[in-house]
Amino acid sequence: MSAPSFRLVCVDCGAPYPGFELRYRCGCGGTLDVVHDLPTLRDRVGFELFDRRLASKARHDRSGVWRFRELILPVAEGEIVTKPEGNTNLYRSEALAAWVGIDDVAWKHEGENPTGSFKDRGMTVGITVAKKLGMNRVACASTGNTSASMASYAAAAGMTAYVFIPEGKVAFGKLSQALAYGATTIQIEGDFDAAMRLVQEACAARGVYLLNSINPFRIEGQKAIAFELLQDLQWAVPDWIVVPGGNLGNSAALGKGFAELFELGLIPRLPKLAVIQAQGANPFATAFRSGRPVVPLPAAETRATAIRSTRASSNRSRACSKREPIGWMEARSAEPGTCAALGDGASRRITVPASEPMVEDETIVTRARAAPTCRARCAIPRRLSVSPDPDPTTSRSTAWMDGVVGSPTT
Ligand SMILES: [Zn+2]
Repeated sequence: MSAPSFRLVCVDCGAPYPGFELRYRCGCGGTLDVVHDLPTLRDRVGFELFDRRLASKARHDRSGVWRFRELILPVAEGEIVTKPEGNTNLYRSEALAAWVGIDDVAWKHEGENPTGSFKDRGMTVGITVAKKLGMNRVACASTGNTSASMASYAAAAGMTAYVFIPEGKVAFGKLSQALAYGATTIQIEGDFDAAMRLVQEACAARGVYLLNSINPFRIEGQKAIAFELLQDLQWAVPDWIVVPGGNLGNSAALGKGFAELFELGLIPRLPKLAVIQAQGANPFATAFRSGRPVVPLPAAETRATAIRSTRASSNRSRACSKREPIGWMEARSAEPGTCAALGDGASRRITVPASEPMVEDETIVTRARAAPTCRARCAIPRRLSVSPDPDPTTSRSTAWMDGVVGSPTT
């Protein structure tokens, strides 16, 4: 029996690449997707296996990601870096069901992950791949959840973590977690896009592993939300799944997870997936409505900071849109004060108390939970006085990296 395998495949041009390779994008610039050898897996996986593991005490079986490991990534158990993550509750409330006007509705609380967000599901896989590739330094640009999660898993794996943060607009509750886990934090004079560009330059030039959402392996871990959600429901497929959409990583991950189960013959049909974007940050909703490619917004404004995205949608929206026959529907209106409930094709507007912004930690819309606070004595972030190059096509000195991530070591 051959070992399960996978490839990285460009969602734009279809070019294939070997599975474990230090690569984040296709040569054409397109986003890469992990493509599993599903025919090989058909005889190896099933709901009985996953249910047996749910009752197991083994560390990898206890993870809400690695319990489904054949569908996540073919790595040896000794290579896995896990906290363990997942195992989030599916809440039901008669009062809330009556309030939204749907008989049977449940909320999957992804804020119950080890560092307080669903990012842990992707990060356990991203850090596991970093370890497998022999990398000992990892980095990301982030204003919150991603940095906390990356720092936590890097610490568990004994790796050095670098977090690039834009000036201002940073969730300090989350940043304090990254600092407490020992990440070196570099404050960039510029916005998130500037921080993103600089972290990519530094990773490429200095042998640091990039763990932003462009990393294709994080999607594989986030996909486990779909698997665990179904297991919570005793493998009954729901009619609709509603998920907040920022850079669309989670939307793409859920769609991919369900599509794989369908292709394996494990579920008889696909649920419809509704992606909710805030009115002030809705590039994917706009593109969906018009049938045209995503056009970055000049600016994104919403109190729901976790889904405030002007352009990142373009990374995953193509993957989302190509993943038929999953159904897609856009929100007509979504702000922290209001969000859209999608039922039978017509959107229905409901009002959410506006005291807290909607965040991405809930698979189904709900309100924010306060971020954990850190009482540890945290280091003050280093401030990097390097403004992004106004013309990214020109090369420039990489000397600024010396005092930030040091010299190449891997
Ligand atoms: Zn390509």
